[in-house]
Amino acid sequence: GIKTALTVKHILTEVQQIISQTFPKNIEIIAEISTDLWMVLGDPTQIHQVLMNLTVNARDAMIDGGILTISAENITLDPDYTRLNIDAKVGSYISISVMDTGIGIPTEIIDRIFDPFFTTKDIGQGTGLGLATVLTIIKSHNGFIKVDSKLGKGSLFQIYLPAIIHLE
Ligand code: ADP
Ligand code: MG
Repeated sequence: GIKTALTVKHILTEVQQIISQTFPKNIEIIAEISTDLWMVLGDPTQIHQVLMNLTVNARDAMIDGGILTISAENITLDPDYTRLNIDAKVGSYISISVMDTGIGIPTEIIDRIFDPFFTTKDIGQGTGLGLATVLTIIKSHNGFIKVDSKLGKGSLFQIYLPAIIHLE
């Protein structure tokens, strides 16, 4: 896709609007989005797709309801951080998180969830392509993604996209 300088705030607001109108009412949607987010070089359609894939997964993980929290903030990664995270490079990023209070992901499968066609959903319910697509898009934006999950408690998917640095 074609990348332009963009503010993800606009995309996040769009996604928030769509899901608040379409997701079940027993899912509470909370958005915590910094007002002064740095810009990223990205394809808005693809970033939109990433957020839809993650929020739909969060919805599917909360069949009995729960809380879906979307947050976004600026973050600068230092060498202490990047030493521990192989995918990260020192620099400025915006971090977008999608967190749910759903069923969680068993540790036995967490290494496979980004594999194409891996799904735990019934036939017709899931293609297993959502997270594979997310990973492809994030990589093509020179970003990375982290997952943290506790069985029965919920999951956190955190995306990092390199920010455009404005030199003074
Ligand atoms: P699909 O949603 O079609 O199954 P995905 O690639 O989007 O495919 O996700 C793959 C699998 O990862 C899901 O089937 C599910 O087992 C697991 N998963 C993804 N997101 C979550 C989540 N938020 N909570 C629990 N499990 C998840
Ligand atoms: Mg999915």
